[in-house]
Amino acid sequence: MNIQNYINGNFQNPIDDQWLDNFNPANGEVYGQIPNSSSKDVEQAYQSAKSAFKQWSQTSLEERSRILIKISELLEDNLQRFAEAESKDNGKPVSLAKSVDIPRAASNFRFFGNAITQFSSESHESVGQQAINYTLRQPIGVVGCISPWNLPLYLFTWKIAPALAAGNCVVAKPSEVTPVTAYLLGDICNEAGLPKGVLNIVHGLGVSTGQAIIEHPDIKAISFTGGTATGAHIAKTAAPMFKKLSLELGGKNPNIIFADCDYEDMLNTTVRSSFANQGQICLCGSRIFVERTIYEQFKVDFVAKVKQLNVGHPSEAHTNIGALVSKPHLEKVKDYINIAKEESGTVLCGGNEVVVEGYENGYYLEPTVIEVSTDECRVNQEEIFGPVVTMMPFDTEDDVLLMANKVKYGLSATLWTNNLKRTMHMSQQLQAGIVWVNTWMMRDLRTPFGGVKASGVGREGGFEALRFFTEPKNVCIKY
Ligand code: NAD
Repeated sequence: MNIQNYINGNFQNPIDDQWLDNFNPANGEVYGQIPNSSSKDVEQAYQSAKSAFKQWSQTSLEERSRILIKISELLEDNLQRFAEAESKDNGKPVSLAKSVDIPRAASNFRFFGNAITQFSSESHESVGQQAINYTLRQPIGVVGCISPWNLPLYLFTWKIAPALAAGNCVVAKPSEVTPVTAYLLGDICNEAGLPKGVLNIVHGLGVSTGQAIIEHPDIKAISFTGGTATGAHIAKTAAPMFKKLSLELGGKNPNIIFADCDYEDMLNTTVRSSFANQGQICLCGSRIFVERTIYEQFKVDFVAKVKQLNVGHPSEAHTNIGALVSKPHLEKVKDYINIAKEESGTVLCGGNEVVVEGYENGYYLEPTVIEVSTDECRVNQEEIFGPVVTMMPFDTEDDVLLMANKVKYGLSATLWTNNLKRTMHMSQQLQAGIVWVNTWMMRDLRTPFGGVKASGVGREGGFEALRFFTEPKNVCIKY
């Protein structure tokens, strides 16, 4: 499938006619070409967004809301087609794309379509001074949205929907590794009646297309999700232009298990929080810490369950673990397994590539559990972002808190316990933007989403996202 840029409501080839191969991770074959857009394409996208801004920013909230909800409904109507496209592009099981990725992309549009009708700003009466202040929340103008490959349409729309709801026009770039569902979204937007130029989607490499977006002097805000190193580069580039930035970056999240938890629930959820989406979710609990009194039991039970996971072609119904997203990523994850061995980690299960019959060149890897003897080893400190977890025992709350916080990241943490005092204490002390207690990845779209430390700056979700995509202005009236 060959894809094109979506600019001013039309599909078009990149101006310089530069193209990239798009790979199917399930069989390693090239199945299409995607534009590698230059700054010329980004400029066209910007101009189209700029022309649309005046009218879109003046469009009533009811009308914006109606269009966003229509996009949501059309995504739902096209669930199967989008799920299959996402799976083919990314390697994830179709069942996962169908139950998580695409429904969530639809929810993003529905949620922000509704949220904008409830969004309001503050007023402050200056008592005794006969003055009233009120805050205007105005759209920023043209904003840039850049997203990664792990949850392609899910994260792409998580940015676009609030940006549009708040009255901005958008120049957006999905990951060059997984661009197809973003391309398909263009048609849906046209069908839903989104005016031309309000959303523009340009495809290409980070260093060419992405760079042109972040460098563009008139794209006033950048909402980015991706790796920490890229986030740092974006911050450096954008800061001298005083752009507003939201950066959602990497994670190395602790999953802390106390002996007093609901064991079965914890065990089943821990399998999911370790290996869902081939472990390629920024929220995966990739460092498992288990209270020593249940450590040996957990080790036996967890490894037994992990061994039952089926690695296979993404479209097979029995597949739990599909293909990793790309050959370079597969190599990176394998390198970390070798590093673990060199650092005297013990591979308790997995660790090898899997050959799936009929798809011998696909990027398949066994779910891998590594027992580590120190939390300071590289596999316990660096983001692997694949089907690999580490595990080790702990003795006290203080010990595990120290280890949990002793990484550069701070995105999410999971805590398994039925002790209320401990829950309150640990939730306060964990350095993370999100703490899940006795659950994992349970999402309410109204809540603030994001990380601390090297996991990013700013929060997405709910009114936080609408605040990011608007500029507050204080108006003071003396009467
Ligand atoms: P990446 O940083 O390589 O790429 C992300 C996006 O940035 C892509 O669209 C890419 O083309 C673009 N990009 C790259 N260089 C750029 C540049 N110089 N200027 C502008 N854009 C540029 O990340 P990835 O490999 O696609 O995704 C994996 C990473 O994303 C992991 O670190 C993961 O933890 C992180 N992630 C974070 C969250 C979160 O919410 N915090 C969610 C999902 C993924």
